Amino acid sequence: MKEKFIRFMSGRYGIDSFGKFTLILGVAALILSGWFDSFIFSVLAWVCVIYSYFRIFSRNVYKRAAENQTWLNKTYKVRSWFARQKNSASQRKVYHIYKCPSCRQKIRIPKGKGKIEVRCPKCSTTFIKNS
Ligand SMILES: [Zn+2]
Repeated sequence: MKEKFIRFMSGRYGIDSFGKFTLILGVAALILSGWFDSFIFSVLAWVCVIYSYFRIFSRNVYKRAAENQTWLNKTYKVRSWFARQKNSASQRKVYHIYKCPSCRQKIRIPKGKGKIEVRCPKCSTTFIKNS
Protein backbone atom coordinates (compact mmCIF):
# COMPACT_ATOMS: atom_id res chain seq x y z
CA MET A 1 0.00 0.00 0.00
CA LYS A 2 2.74 2.41 1.00
CA GLU A 3 4.84 1.41 -2.01
CA LYS A 4 1.89 1.91 -4.30
CA PHE A 5 1.44 5.39 -2.89
CA ILE A 6 5.13 6.22 -3.32
CA ARG A 7 4.99 4.98 -6.93
CA PHE A 8 1.83 7.02 -7.49
CA MET A 9 3.48 10.16 -6.10
CA SER A 10 6.76 9.77 -8.00
CA GLY A 11 7.20 12.57 -10.51
CA ARG A 12 4.35 14.50 -8.96
CA TYR A 13 4.79 17.85 -7.35
CA GLY A 14 3.61 17.39 -3.75
CA ILE A 15 3.03 20.06 -1.14
CA ASP A 16 4.84 23.39 -0.90
CA SER A 17 4.43 26.70 0.88
CA PHE A 18 1.77 27.93 -1.54
CA GLY A 19 0.02 24.54 -1.36
CA LYS A 20 -0.12 24.75 2.43
CA PHE A 21 -1.62 28.21 2.16
CA THR A 22 -4.37 27.16 -0.29
CA LEU A 23 -5.18 24.12 1.89
CA ILE A 24 -5.41 26.23 5.06
CA LEU A 25 -7.49 28.80 3.17
CA GLY A 26 -9.78 25.98 2.03
CA VAL A 27 -10.22 24.62 5.56
CA ALA A 28 -10.81 28.15 6.90
CA ALA A 29 -13.44 28.77 4.22
CA LEU A 30 -15.07 25.43 5.09
CA ILE A 31 -15.31 26.43 8.77
CA LEU A 32 -16.65 29.88 7.83
CA SER A 33 -19.23 28.33 5.49
CA GLY A 34 -20.42 26.24 8.43
CA TRP A 35 -20.67 29.26 10.69
CA PHE A 36 -22.39 31.60 8.27
CA ASP A 37 -24.20 29.00 6.18
CA SER A 38 -22.72 30.81 3.21
CA PHE A 39 -22.71 29.51 -0.37
CA ILE A 40 -19.75 31.70 -1.33
CA PHE A 41 -17.54 30.29 1.44
CA SER A 42 -18.38 26.70 0.59
CA VAL A 43 -17.58 27.33 -3.10
CA LEU A 44 -14.31 29.00 -2.05
CA ALA A 45 -13.52 26.03 0.22
CA TRP A 46 -14.03 23.51 -2.61
CA VAL A 47 -12.10 25.59 -5.12
CA CYS A 48 -9.15 25.87 -2.69
CA VAL A 49 -9.15 22.19 -1.78
CA ILE A 50 -9.48 20.99 -5.39
CA TYR A 51 -6.81 23.44 -6.55
CA SER A 52 -4.50 22.28 -3.70
CA TYR A 53 -4.90 18.63 -4.71
CA PHE A 54 -4.48 19.48 -8.37
CA ARG A 55 -1.12 21.07 -7.53
CA ILE A 56 -0.04 18.19 -5.22
CA PHE A 57 -0.70 15.57 -7.90
CA SER A 58 0.50 17.70 -10.79
CA ARG A 59 3.28 16.32 -12.99
CA ASN A 60 4.20 19.76 -14.28
CA VAL A 61 6.76 20.26 -11.52
CA TYR A 62 8.45 23.29 -13.11
CA LYS A 63 5.25 25.26 -13.45
CA ARG A 64 4.18 24.44 -9.87
CA ALA A 65 7.61 25.46 -8.54
CA ALA A 66 7.35 28.73 -10.47
CA GLU A 67 3.92 29.37 -8.91
CA ASN A 68 5.37 28.74 -5.48
CA GLN A 69 8.26 31.12 -6.20
CA THR A 70 5.83 33.85 -7.29
CA TRP A 71 3.85 33.25 -4.10
CA LEU A 72 6.99 33.45 -1.96
CA ASN A 73 8.13 36.65 -3.69
CA LYS A 74 4.73 38.31 -3.27
CA THR A 75 4.47 37.39 0.40
CA TYR A 76 8.11 38.12 1.22
CA LYS A 77 7.37 41.38 3.04
CA VAL A 78 4.56 39.88 5.13
CA ARG A 79 6.52 36.75 5.99
CA SER A 80 9.67 38.64 6.95
CA TRP A 81 7.56 41.01 9.10
CA PHE A 82 6.16 38.03 11.03
CA ALA A 83 9.64 36.53 11.33
CA ARG A 84 10.95 39.83 12.69
CA GLN A 85 8.14 40.04 15.28
CA LYS A 86 8.83 36.50 16.42
CA ASN A 87 12.55 37.18 16.59
CA SER A 88 12.22 40.43 18.56
CA ALA A 89 9.71 38.82 20.95
CA SER A 90 12.23 36.11 21.81
CA GLN A 91 15.03 38.69 22.13
CA ARG A 92 12.94 40.83 24.47
CA LYS A 93 13.07 38.11 27.12
CA VAL A 94 16.86 38.37 27.41
CA TYR A 95 17.60 41.83 26.09
CA HIS A 96 16.37 45.39 26.30
CA ILE A 97 16.14 47.10 22.95
CA TYR A 98 16.92 50.81 23.14
CA LYS A 99 17.08 53.40 20.42
CA CYS A 100 20.04 55.71 20.23
CA PRO A 101 18.77 59.22 21.14
CA SER A 102 20.71 60.89 18.34
CA CYS A 103 20.62 58.50 15.37
CA ARG A 104 17.70 56.15 16.23
CA GLN A 105 19.92 53.10 15.82
CA LYS A 106 18.46 50.12 17.71
CA ILE A 107 20.81 48.83 20.41
CA ARG A 108 20.45 45.53 22.19
CA ILE A 109 21.44 45.37 25.86
CA PRO A 110 21.43 42.25 28.06
CA LYS A 111 18.95 42.45 30.95
CA GLY A 112 19.82 42.54 34.64
CA LYS A 113 23.10 44.48 34.58
CA GLY A 114 21.85 47.52 36.51
CA LYS A 115 22.70 51.06 35.40
CA ILE A 116 25.09 51.01 32.48
CA GLU A 117 26.56 53.43 30.03
CA VAL A 118 25.65 52.54 26.47
CA ARG A 119 27.75 53.59 23.52
CA CYS A 120 26.00 53.69 20.17
CA PRO A 121 28.02 51.59 17.68
CA LYS A 122 26.93 53.82 14.81
CA CYS A 123 27.46 57.39 16.02
CA SER A 124 29.37 56.81 19.31
CA THR A 125 26.88 58.79 21.40
CA THR A 126 26.87 57.55 25.00
CA PHE A 127 23.82 57.47 27.27
CA ILE A 128 22.89 55.89 30.61
CA LYS A 129 20.23 53.20 30.79
CA ASN A 130 18.88 50.75 33.32
CA SER A 131 19.21 47.22 32.10
ZN1 LIG B 1 23.63 56.59 17.51
